[in-house]
Amino acid sequence: MYIGLDVGGTYVKAAQIGMDGTVGEHRHLPTACGSIDALLDQLAGVISTLRTSETAGVGAGVPGIVDRSGRVRVSPNLHILDGQGIGDELRRRTGLDVFVENDANAAALAECWMGAGAGTADMLLVTLGTGVGGGVVIGGRVWSGHAGYAGEIGHIQVDEHGVACGCGGRGHVETFAGVAGWGRLAQEALASGRPSVLRDAELLDPKAVATAAADGDAVALEVIEEVTRALGIGIAAALLLMNVERVVVGGGVSKAGELLLEPLARHVRKRIFADLFRPDMLRLALLGNDAGVIGAARVAMLEAGAREL
Ligand SMILES: [Zn+2]
Repeated sequence: MYIGLDVGGTYVKAAQIGMDGTVGEHRHLPTACGSIDALLDQLAGVISTLRTSETAGVGAGVPGIVDRSGRVRVSPNLHILDGQGIGDELRRRTGLDVFVENDANAAALAECWMGAGAGTADMLLVTLGTGVGGGVVIGGRVWSGHAGYAGEIGHIQVDEHGVACGCGGRGHVETFAGVAGWGRLAQEALASGRPSVLRDAELLDPKAVATAAADGDAVALEVIEEVTRALGIGIAAALLLMNVERVVVGGGVSKAGELLLEPLARHVRKRIFADLFRPDMLRLALLGNDAGVIGAARVAMLEAGAREL
């Protein structure tokens, strides 16, 4: 059995994960984000409550760029992790092997192993939330690139004159398909003066847009058209570059689900070689909130296995 940790800016999730991917005992705690020591104490503590004589190792998914040594280069949403080699620290505190991976990469590995990518070895996960993240699995392993930046599909540029992105760039996929992007696009569409139930929405968030679009609201459908156009440009670029077998869409915003998949497939299809497209290659993620802990544990399983070879 392995322990999977999903360290988020708000919550830490931890679970025992069996070699077959089953989720056993689990914990869900507000992240001790006051200092790196408080966080390490918390993580070591939760490991000690979950470990048994069967525990073979620990995997931790973190919201940041992780280099090959397991050091967190930068963590925009949990700055106390910046520059920290938390794997080594947790190894020292617990005596267990601890492996660290970017959280979206870990989730991608989980979906490829047990979820919407099962049966494939080459997969791209796109996570839609506040930001637009991504994880690449090639040959059944996370492919994180030379310095850990692979899979950053949210920062592919769609419009060089577009609005500012959180990363400092302009017109990136995330400025359309991230939560704020949905709101901006809805406001712009409403400015045309056309009738829409979105005029009465308290919050112009993806949920409100998706609900209105499901009822055929023309303004909401236009927003979804723009969101999926931007995402489609990013996914088409990824497919042309990597020819992965499947693209899995996950994250909170993907609850808009089927509503996104049809236009997304249309936008992807017209930008790639016909032979590269398969009607069922775009799927919704299946593992939900468990993807992080399952994937983190899987990282540790694969690392431990690789070491034995
Ligand atoms: Zn960006």
